[in-house]
Amino acid sequence: MTTLTLAGLTKTYPGTDRPALDRLDLAIESGSLTSLLGPSGCGKTTTMKLIAGLLAPDAGEIVLNGRSIHGLVPERRGVAMVLQNPLLFPHLTVGGNIGFGLKMRGLSSTEIARQVDPMLARVHLDGMGHRPPTALSGGQQQRAALARALILKPKVLLLDEPLSNLDAGLREEMQTLIRTLQRETGITTLVVTHDQAEAVALSDRIALLFGGKLAQHGPPEDFYRRPASKAVARFFGGVNFVPGRSQAGTFQSVLGPLALSKGLADGDHLLTVRPEALRLSPGPNARRARVDAVAFLGTQTRIDLSVAGVNLQALKAPDEAATLRPGMEIDISLPPDALWLLPSGDH
Ligand code: ATP
Repeated sequence: MTTLTLAGLTKTYPGTDRPALDRLDLAIESGSLTSLLGPSGCGKTTTMKLIAGLLAPDAGEIVLNGRSIHGLVPERRGVAMVLQNPLLFPHLTVGGNIGFGLKMRGLSSTEIARQVDPMLARVHLDGMGHRPPTALSGGQQQRAALARALILKPKVLLLDEPLSNLDAGLREEMQTLIRTLQRETGITTLVVTHDQAEAVALSDRIALLFGGKLAQHGPPEDFYRRPASKAVARFFGGVNFVPGRSQAGTFQSVLGPLALSKGLADGDHLLTVRPEALRLSPGPNARRARVDAVAFLGTQTRIDLSVAGVNLQALKAPDEAATLRPGMEIDISLPPDALWLLPSGDH
């Protein structure tokens, strides 16, 4: 079921000549956690602000649970947004901040306390409700802001770069917390991030934006195994691209004929194979390759190869690459199920 549908959403800021968002169509599944991913300036924050009602679109529609929310003020949309900078009210305690929205709704102080206490526990701030926000660390302030939004039981929760101000350890902790709370509450959640690894670790689905347009929307593994374009593949670390022509399950290029898996279309294409999927051993679609460079990267080793004059890159566990040296000739293979075809005009 779809909770939130964006249809033809377009926004050009005054004084700019290019739309920040250009006819964006996106259907967000009910109860899912979706990352809105893309490079700086691609329109992620603009999309969030349009959903939250902080900006008005030039064209297009936002439909929430079957109803257009166009024209509704932010408070009446059933949408809560947590900003990158938590912006807690400094004159209220942490508990006061978390209960603020309930107070605005006119709930009694007993009822507010009944809801705030378990919420403090849920975001691991037990016993800190009486503190001023300045007595919390950055990560704790983020969690308080998350609690302040969640307590209102919004239909849609928007999180704008919730992890970007946190250091590596806290990032993982917050990532786990967001994932757990989202699963427990089932609130349809959209998270803005420019970090593809974060989007993969966090989300059920990713919506990737380039230049105000949707480049691809789907489960994380699709972006690795079935990227929609060369730009999408590159954003997800794809480096191997070979132009050629596919016909009846075979790809013809300077690499010679390569068997493809079933179901790929005939015609001119760019062949791609993930650097982790390229095998450094004989097998189907075997080739001789020269090792040009070997770079130890910590958890992985990158191997630059030449195959019939084409540069290909492999990423392998350091153990697997331990004996490789530049100048060696080795057998490699390109497993058919690891080969994917991209539109050929896409460079
Ligand atoms: P980032 O990851 O850097 O936050 P983003 O993907 O969230 O970027 P947006 O903030 O949505 O991108 O901006 C999209 C485009 O609109 C950018 O080109 C940006 O410069 C432009 N833009 C954003 N806000 C304004 C504004 N108030 N006035 C004019 N242009 C704006």
